[in-house]
Amino acid sequence: MRILRVPVIDCGYVGSVRPQVAPMRCKSCGSENVGNFNSEVAIHFPGLENIHEPAVFVFPNLVVCRDCGFLEFVLPAGELRALTKGKAAGAE
Ligand SMILES: [Zn+2]
Repeated sequence: MRILRVPVIDCGYVGSVRPQVAPMRCKSCGSENVGNFNSEVAIHFPGLENIHEPAVFVFPNLVVCRDCGFLEFVLPAGELRALTKGKAAGAE
């Protein structure tokens, strides 16, 4: 009789027990009462000298703290480049 050996794959959890994932916390107040939201944001360059510069529109996913209002998002690379180019980059 020939015995076949089946490779065992460690998938990280057994049965219905899932691995624990740390809850998302607000970086300002530490609350776990945070949520993800879709958004649209128009970023304007500061200063009167940039009043005719077009705004940069981004559509980021926001992480919003429902307790203190702190929010954060990451700019996509293309929009980040738009903010660092041109004469508006000197407005820092
Ligand atoms: Zn907070």
